[in-house]
Amino acid sequence: MSDTTDPIVRIRGLRKAFGEHVVLSGIDWDVAASQVVVVIGPSGSGKSTFLRCCNGLERPEGGRVEICGRTLVDEGVMLPEPELNRLRQEVGMVFQAFNLFPHLSVLDNITIGPRKLRGLSRADAEAAARALLEKVGLTQKADAMPASLSGGQKQRVAIARALAMQPRVMLFDEPTSALDPELVDEVLQVMKLLAADGMTMMVVTHEMGFAREVADVVLVMDGGGIIEAGPPDVIFSQPTQERTRSFLQAVLKNQ
Ligand code: ADP
Ligand code: MG
Repeated sequence: MSDTTDPIVRIRGLRKAFGEHVVLSGIDWDVAASQVVVVIGPSGSGKSTFLRCCNGLERPEGGRVEICGRTLVDEGVMLPEPELNRLRQEVGMVFQAFNLFPHLSVLDNITIGPRKLRGLSRADAEAAARALLEKVGLTQKADAMPASLSGGQKQRVAIARALAMQPRVMLFDEPTSALDPELVDEVLQVMKLLAADGMTMMVVTHEMGFAREVADVVLVMDGGGIIEAGPPDVIFSQPTQERTRSFLQAVLKNQ
């Protein structure tokens, strides 16, 4: 049984290797309801793999991931289907590369999951999708095809599509990294709205302004582990690790 004080995501001793290459070397972390966790760290430090283990896209060989008090994977054993799919629906994910279905309209991109996986009627799914399009500022684009949208609009559709499954936690893997600079803010604004609404979020990003403003906690990853964690003002102003300092210097030089 879970109660309301349980973390939404609980990670214990998470280990993942690709062949000989250890990518996650024992991660422990809890994400509380409505918390926004920003994950930073150099390329190759394991950030994407960490998020992917949290929604069952990767199978870690060691450790445990629980979502809303239910075990997704424990010591390499994944929850069996169909419970696995049901639990994964609690975890929305937004990727760097939008991943919209190119042959479906914006509205159909958003309604297909709820209709096929949650059994919603077309009318109910469309009503919910239109409300989400309003939330992400794209009411006028319901009938548009993805190819006609800007990158920022595509990413906002991808967020609406993930939200349509009514997840308990949203994972974002560098959601603005593929965007032209002038389109970054419209996506960050939507993410800020979600955070203000109380959505639980894990966000890999190099947008330090966003992290400062929205994160409850910043995790710094390096070499497959969390090397330090704390509130953004502490991590950005008084990091304790030399590796954090040099990473932040390198990122901030480019912003
Ligand atoms: P980050 O997101 O921090 O850049 P990743 O989690 O993508 O890091 O990758 C961490 C390490 O794992 C990298 O060295 C990467 O090459 C390796 N890796 C990631 N995915 C795979 C895979 N599917 N097969 C083999 N190696 C992988
Ligand atoms: Mg990555």
